[in-house]
Amino acid sequence: MSAARQAEIRNARLKHFQEKIVEIKNKLNEADAFSSVIEELEKDILELMQADRMTVYRCSRNGRTITSVFASGSDGTVIAVPLSTTSISGYVALSQVPLRINAVHNAELLKEIHPKLRYDTSFEKKTGYRCDSMIAVPIRKDKILLGVLQFINQVEGKGFSQADLISATELALLIADKFGEEFQATSNPYEYLVKNGRLTQKQLDDALEKSRRNKSPVTRLLIHDHQIAPEEIGKSLEKYYQVPFMQYDQDLEVPADLLEELNATYLKRQCWIPIKGDREEAVVLIDDPSDYNRIMEMERILNVKKLAFMVGLREDIFKFINSVFNTTSAGDGEAMGLDALMDRLHDDIDLVDDVDDDSADAAAANDSTIVNLVNQIIVEAFRAGTSDIHIEPSKGKSPAIVRIRVDGLCRQLLTIPFNRIKEVVTRIKVMSRLDIAERRKPQDGKCKIRISGKNVELRVATLPTVNGEGAVLRILAAGGAMPVDKLNLTDHNRSRIEEAISHPHGLFLVVGPTGSGKTTTLHAILGHLNTTDRKIWTAEDPVEITQPGLQQVQVQPKIGFNFAAAMRAFLRADPDIILIGEMRDKETSHIGVEASLTGHLVLSTLHTNSAPETITRLLDLGLDPMSFSDALLGILAQRLMRTLCGDCKEEYEPSQQEKEYLMNNYGAIEFAKLGINPAKMNLYKAKGCARCGDTGYRGRTGIHEFLQSTPEMQRMIYRNADLEDMRKQAIKDGMRTLFQDGIGKVLRGQSDMEQLRKVVSA
Ligand SMILES: [Zn+2]
Repeated sequence: MSAARQAEIRNARLKHFQEKIVEIKNKLNEADAFSSVIEELEKDILELMQADRMTVYRCSRNGRTITSVFASGSDGTVIAVPLSTTSISGYVALSQVPLRINAVHNAELLKEIHPKLRYDTSFEKKTGYRCDSMIAVPIRKDKILLGVLQFINQVEGKGFSQADLISATELALLIADKFGEEFQATSNPYEYLVKNGRLTQKQLDDALEKSRRNKSPVTRLLIHDHQIAPEEIGKSLEKYYQVPFMQYDQDLEVPADLLEELNATYLKRQCWIPIKGDREEAVVLIDDPSDYNRIMEMERILNVKKLAFMVGLREDIFKFINSVFNTTSAGDGEAMGLDALMDRLHDDIDLVDDVDDDSADAAAANDSTIVNLVNQIIVEAFRAGTSDIHIEPSKGKSPAIVRIRVDGLCRQLLTIPFNRIKEVVTRIKVMSRLDIAERRKPQDGKCKIRISGKNVELRVATLPTVNGEGAVLRILAAGGAMPVDKLNLTDHNRSRIEEAISHPHGLFLVVGPTGSGKTTTLHAILGHLNTTDRKIWTAEDPVEITQPGLQQVQVQPKIGFNFAAAMRAFLRADPDIILIGEMRDKETSHIGVEASLTGHLVLSTLHTNSAPETITRLLDLGLDPMSFSDALLGILAQRLMRTLCGDCKEEYEPSQQEKEYLMNNYGAIEFAKLGINPAKMNLYKAKGCARCGDTGYRGRTGIHEFLQSTPEMQRMIYRNADLEDMRKQAIKDGMRTLFQDGIGKVLRGQSDMEQLRKVVSA
């Protein structure tokens, strides 16, 4: 079949899909209730998904089970499934991760997804209907789980595709809107108060801002500054979290056996407390029932078969904790400082025997002092703007060292007594679900935590050293995109880049080594392109920066969902712009080029050192020179350079030697164009003050080299020209090299000679 014919079929399918989606959406909108319209929609939805059966589950009010509201071929029996690993739909509800499994009876396959995941065969045994392939996706509005949508058995027996999974996710979004409407769900915990005129959006925003600044609960501000009754706040929380609200009740007897192995410090830190029930089924009061991370930890620690939730005010939860443990309320909500924690560790340094038993280790690692210490290290590091935390065991009885990397350089944060380091590393392994018994081999894992309301992902690597096991934690803060203005592009580069990305299709690349800020730049560019009339898909590993309006997907190479697979799925999903995290192999780069030739703007990155080198690298990978030269819009190479602290940098007159170094490397002719009189040239150097931690530097800036595709350059690519010739042509076409851009930034006093030499010699 010709490529044109294939594209035609693909477009026809896509059009059909979009039309059906709109039809389904309209029918859902018109219906009074989901239950009154789903039977009518079943045929359309199944045809669209090429599935034999479907089940729609809805969350129950306690937030811990999902129950079926519709199931193909069912006699109306309601299926109730706990949020747990005992069934696939239950696991999807628990983890909120969409799943596609083409052999549900294959236990090994399930184990790869989660060690405890099982397929519940009770339904098959009862009905005789056998299930092979399955898709299950969470039905979510914002981050609140409302149900699960499940499809069973691809009709042609070939299994569901990744594209089907994306289609299912789109359908789940439509159902989420309907469920949200029926639940009267709100889109933030306090929206109900605004909707009911109890306070204005501005007042709410101010209160949230003040709460962040003072690190005090926003509910306290709402009660004291705005005289809103706790009951009203409770009503608002109920609407959002979809679980019942509970206030402090001094007569309530908290079941003592649920509190075994728990202590007040830990519970205050975590802000939850079990208030009813037993080990079979317990109810936990928590301030944020959507905090999946705390709930996972709670499940491990409480060891209760079934959990249900109620939402409470932070101050009420503290009152319960204080009354149960007879503690005073001093220090409520305040995290214990690092110093105090370290004191405690040093105090009981003689009490801890050096045990070598794994179960004892695991218990010790859950000790609240260790838990708090690890949490505090992470919080402290995060606040300092750290990218990596290094936990390094030392020789013999010397204390272990914790160092953090800020703006590219390491510094010491604190030391840990030698006999506690093992527990600290074990705690980190528990958090990131690594095998705690394995200490001789390196392991990789990750975990998600929340710091001051921000989602933070930690990538954890443990390594055995001769002094014991150490760990490195990379902090990936999910933040918004940086505006293009803040990239510190020269006007020359900025206008050329904007010209390049104004094309509706083509390939735009950002290149540089790891840690050169490629992702930041790409997201700034996406932010610039992100308008409502354009559909943008991104596949990233990991998703570090999120932007409203973008459909962002995390690739999972372990289950075969790599960049190439994501790219193929996107092409079915009607994109205008596609960001593909990295073109690391021929397949991905080939699809990227093809996509950019068929009407899409494709953005990606490569690990190459310079813009011209990128071209030779891609041709070496085996890309067709003709297609590639047609597709290419431009290549931006970049590095990060430390910037001088604006509060203490010192002006000085450079030596003749330094002046010549700058002028020669910039190029005499180009330098003359800058209009700088060499006799009056002044530079800046680092000094150091309190604001920059005595380093003389604060923050980093990008330096850039932009190669724009021109007809001459295209011809050179097509005939696979020599690297040096392409470099010369690029400069002729207006490219300033990284070195030139760096010199420009030194001349403007943003950085100094020392940093320039470091960056260009690296
Ligand atoms: Zn300074």
